This record gives sequence, structure tokens and C-alpha cells, in this order.
Amino acid sequence: MTKIRIGQGFDVHAFGDGDHVMLGGVRVPHTRGVLAHSDGDVALHALCDAILGALALGDIGQHFPPTDPRWKDADSRALLRQCVALVHARGWRVGNCDLTILCEQPKVGPHAQAMREAIAAGLGIEVEAVGVKATTTEALGFLGRGEGIAAQAACLLVHG
Ligand code: MG
Repeated sequence: MTKIRIGQGFDVHAFGDGDHVMLGGVRVPHTRGVLAHSDGDVALHALCDAILGALALGDIGQHFPPTDPRWKDADSRALLRQCVALVHARGWRVGNCDLTILCEQPKVGPHAQAMREAIAAGLGIEVEAVGVKATTTEALGFLGRGEGIAAQAACLLVHG
């Protein structure tokens, strides 16, 4: 019988000064940036946590501590690659993943395909196995007030 594992992740970053946000490994022009130690890519951070969760290896903060200068302004694609290396080292592979990005702005739709391609490349899987969706929170809460951006991710691992 095929062994599978599932993991889920969630991340939030507050908006700050800047002219773009990194989302799903893609540079998205915006009137704000995000406050973060790394590049603040909430989509990839949620995905890293989903992968680490499926492996039951803790969370992204334990693996890439924000107090560690190595991760200052880090490209989150490098963090994702390290998580994928942990997957492969244990005899697993990524089956598929599915992400939801939550914000009022920037609009995700025009960039979703590029994000799928960047994520698929990072995971070493086909684009058809990567879902990227977006939603607003109907103007409610901190996301609705445009104070930040959030992402959720789910990831399936298959053994062998
Ligand atoms: Mg984060």
C-alpha cells in the first residue's frame, strides 16, 4: 500500500514600505512591501510549513530562525529547496500541493500561473500538481483592512 502523509501550513506578514511583495517565488509589484527577516514570501513560508508538518519535523521558525543572520533577506525559494531536500532524504516525494493566498491587494490572479510554475520548479513536480488560489476576507479583519497578507498551504507526500 502506498504510504502518504499530509501537512498544512499558515503564514502572515504585515505590510510595510516597499514597491513589491514576493509571492509564491514571484515578484509582484505593489504599493507596499512586507515586514520580514527573509523576503517575506507568505506563500512559500506556508508551503515550507506544510512540508515540515507532513514530515512532523517542527516548523519553519525552528529550521530557519529569524534571529539567524543567514536568513536575513533570504530568498524563500532557497528555504523551500532545503525543505524538499529533507523530504527526499527520508525517501518521500511531494505528490501535490495547494495554496490559498488571502489579501485584498495585490491581485493574485494575474500572477497565479507564474507562481504555480515557480513552485513546481522548486518542488521538482509538474505544474498540474500545484494549485494556487486567492481570496479576500470580504474587507473583514486585518487582511480586509489591508494591514498584511496571509497564505495557507496543504501538501501531500508520497513514499518511494
Ligand atoms: Mg513568514
